[in-house]
Parts: sequence; C-alpha cells; structure tokens
Amino acid sequence: MGEPTPPVPAGEERGPLDSEHLAAIVRSSDDAILSKDRNAIITSWNQGAERLYGYTADEMVGQSVALLIPPERQGEELEIVAKILAGERIEHYETERVRKDGTRIPVSLAASPIHGADGKIVGVSTQARDTSATHLALLQAAQQLEGAPIGIAVFSVRPDSFGQLEQVNSEMTRLLGYTREELEGMSHAEITHPDDAARERVLIEDLAAGTRTAYGLEKRDRHKDGRWIWVGMTVSVLEGEDPPRSAVAHVIDISERKRTETELELTRQNLERSNAELDQFAYVASHDLKEPLILLSAYARMLEERHGDVLDEEGRTFLGHMREESRRMKTMIDDLLDYSRLETRAEAACRVDLAEMLDTALRTLAPRIEEAGAKIEIQGTLPAVEGSPAQFERLFRNLLSNAIKFRRDEPPQVSISGESVDGACVVTVRDNGIGIDPGKERQIFDVFQRLHSQEDYGGTGMGLAICKRIVERHGGRIWVERAPGGGSAFKFTVPE
Ligand code: ADP
Repeated sequence: MGEPTPPVPAGEERGPLDSEHLAAIVRSSDDAILSKDRNAIITSWNQGAERLYGYTADEMVGQSVALLIPPERQGEELEIVAKILAGERIEHYETERVRKDGTRIPVSLAASPIHGADGKIVGVSTQARDTSATHLALLQAAQQLEGAPIGIAVFSVRPDSFGQLEQVNSEMTRLLGYTREELEGMSHAEITHPDDAARERVLIEDLAAGTRTAYGLEKRDRHKDGRWIWVGMTVSVLEGEDPPRSAVAHVIDISERKRTETELELTRQNLERSNAELDQFAYVASHDLKEPLILLSAYARMLEERHGDVLDEEGRTFLGHMREESRRMKTMIDDLLDYSRLETRAEAACRVDLAEMLDTALRTLAPRIEEAGAKIEIQGTLPAVEGSPAQFERLFRNLLSNAIKFRRDEPPQVSISGESVDGACVVTVRDNGIGIDPGKERQIFDVFQRLHSQEDYGGTGMGLAICKRIVERHGGRIWVERAPGGGSAFKFTVPE
C-alpha cells in the first residue's frame, strides 16, 4: 500500500502537471478524495469517494460532511478541521465512516489545507482509504491465534495511537488478568514496568521508522492485580504494510525462569561470599596457627639439644616424630594458605602460553625427574589462553609431581598432550603409575583428601584441590580417567 498523497487542489500548479491533469488524477483515483469549505460543506467529490461511500457527486456536493461521520466521532472531526485550518496536515488518521447504506467502514485518512489565491486557507481536502481488508486480515489472524498457547497482541506503531493494543488473544488476557475489552485500547506504556518502558519505546519507534522489522525483548508487565510478571516476547511488524502500521507480539510468561535465575544468582553471590569468608578464615587461621607451631618445633629442638642426653632411645625417637609432624603441619598450613591466596592474591589475567608454563614447571621439577629416572613426552601443541601464568605453572607442577610421586617400581613415563575440542583446550597429563581406586575419582580433588598413608607416599592432600580451584577459576573443568595400562590420565579444560 503506497503512502496516500494529499491531493493538490485544482487551480494550483505544481511541476509539469497542469491543473487539468491533476483534476483527472483526482477524479480517477482509487482513494476517496473530497474537499470541503471552512464550514464543512463538500465542494468536490471524486469517483473513489462515490465507490467508497456509495453517494454520487451530485448527491454530496453542497452537503455537510457530517453525513459521513458516525455520531460519536463528530467531535473528533471538529478537532481535525481545527488543526487543518491552523495550517497542519494530517497523515494516517485511523477512523470510521458511514456509507450511504448505513454500514460503517474503517478508513485511513489524510487531510491537508486548501489555499485560496490570496494564500489564505479556504477549505480542507481529505483523502480516505478503505482499510477493511487490513482489519479483516487482522481479525482473521487473531481468530486463528485465539487458541494459541502463547499470548498474542497486535498493537499500533502509528504516531496517533503509538503502542496501543488493538487485538489480543485469550491467552494474553489470561497472562495479564484483564478482560479483552480492558486490554484492547490500553497502551504498552501503561502495562510495562517503568524501567523497561523506555527501552521498548525505542524498539517500537524503530519498527515504525522501518529501521528494524522485528525484535526480541524480556520485560516486566503489570498484571491487573498489581504484580509484575516477567514476559519474553518476539515482535514483528505486520507484513504488507508500508509504512508499518501495526506489529504483532508473541508473548510468554518467563517469571518462573526469572525466579530460578534470581535464585541462582543469589546462591552464586552467597557462595562467593562464603568462599571469600572461608578464604579469609583460612588466611587468618594459617597465620595464627603457624606461630605456636614454630614455637612447638623450637621447644622440641631445644629439648633435644639441651636435655637429649637424659632421654632414652625411645624418648629421642618421639621427639624426632614431634619435629617431623610439626614440619608436616607447617607444609599443610602453607598449602592451605596458597589455596586461599588463589582467589585473594590472584594476579591480573593476561595471555598465557601454556607450553611455556609447562616448560617452567618441568625445569623446577628437573631434580625429581632425574632422581626418579622419569621419561617425559610432550604430544601436540599447547595453546595460549587467558589467565594467571603463575597459577598455570602451579597446575602443571602439581600434576607432574604427582605423576612422578605415585609411581610403581618401574621408572615413570609421563606424557602431556593438548587438543582443541569445541572451542576449549583439553590438556591431558598421563602416567604409568599406581592409578586411582575406582569410586575415589572425585574425592581426591577435595581439600586434605589423600588415598595413601604418609609412610607410602608423603603429601598434604592439597595438591589436587589447588589444581581444581585454579582450573575452575579459569572457567574450566578437571577430572581423572584411568589410563591404558592402569596409570592415571588427569585432564583439564581451559577456554581458548
Ligand atoms: P598429595 O599428593 O599431597 O597427597 P593431592 O591432592 O595432590 O595430594 O592428591 C590427592 C590424592 O590423590 C593423593 O594422595 C593420591 O592418593 C591421589 N593421586 C593424585 N595424583 C595421583 C596420580 N598421578 N596417580 C595416582 N594417585 C594419585
């Protein structure tokens, strides 16, 4: 449908068309074009008007235009005329007119002033277009959508009725708790949460301007009982209207999802808070525990040095155990401190070359590798990722030292490989060691969890907990699988 062009009154010349041409165009136009004087008396009536309203020119010229206007819209007409006489033009005014046979038709009006030879406004020219077809299409669409399980609302994007709901289906009335009569005629701004209204207004303006044809939005609508309900909607302009006049919104209630999201967010915040508190506790406790521990081993040393000769063999062995256990406890506290510092003292993230971090870890472990006669093999390439270099070095160091520590009688064989899977890098550290007992694969990543005694394999049980925290801080996952031949394959992912 083209934009109705307000007719140029006969007598005025514009461009190359002379007044006769113009008059012919007006006469034969499909649109109903009529002019009226300042007193609303019809002065011209074209064939389009005859077709639309059913009156001939003879019947109407000289009559008042009020004949065509439904009684309840007479006031509206006066307002339009007043605007035009003040020099304004009106484009796309949706209203109703009465035909000769008494039936009513929906029309879209355009109106503009007619200037006399002296430049004064002498009358009004209006052009009307029958919009029954559009209304029928809307009605049919609405009927088809009536039974739909999602809310559907057709609303106006025209300036004169911007955002006004024109048709809604029953699911829409159920969602918002209003009757159809109440809802149709309400504006989107009336039911939209103030915080969402401005955002939606911009989107609707874009639809009206033709700069976008559809949008998706999550917003809060007010239920009739005053509650705000979250709705998700997709909105698109009705096809075949140029410029766009109406849009259709498909609406679903997403309150439940939003509630879960909010709860999850709260849980996450709580977890973060308790993690932070735990870190703080671990940090303070570690510091405070260290002091008596240092004193304890100092007294044990003094006892051995100054009074060792009065102790028998067994007494000296006990003292040795005391000092050994104090040392172990100090290592545990240091590891716990390291664990808490992973969050609180994290360096700023930067680009980290994993291959470089592996290399640094291997150099640090060189004496142990040599002592164990371990064979280390690197397969594939390790990428660069975003994160903390020191933490990735620590991750490799912990996994590699375990791979060497938990060995069988034969020399350890360790391979490190990297591969890209779905936008993440999967790193595997595989050994030919003692393997993990089935069913214990998860617990070994917990704080202070160990599967072996100090006599068999020394350690604090913090190494893998630190690994897990490092990987998860970087958005990845860590787990262990059984390697072919009985060893372990520790795997972790990092987003690339
Ligand atoms: P630690 O090495 O200090 O004991 P970790 O947290 O590094 O603590 O490891 C926890 C437990 O997981 C270890 O005590 C050990 O039982 C098991 N484990 C870790 N790495 C390996 C491995 N490569 N092979 C077999 N068992 C392992």
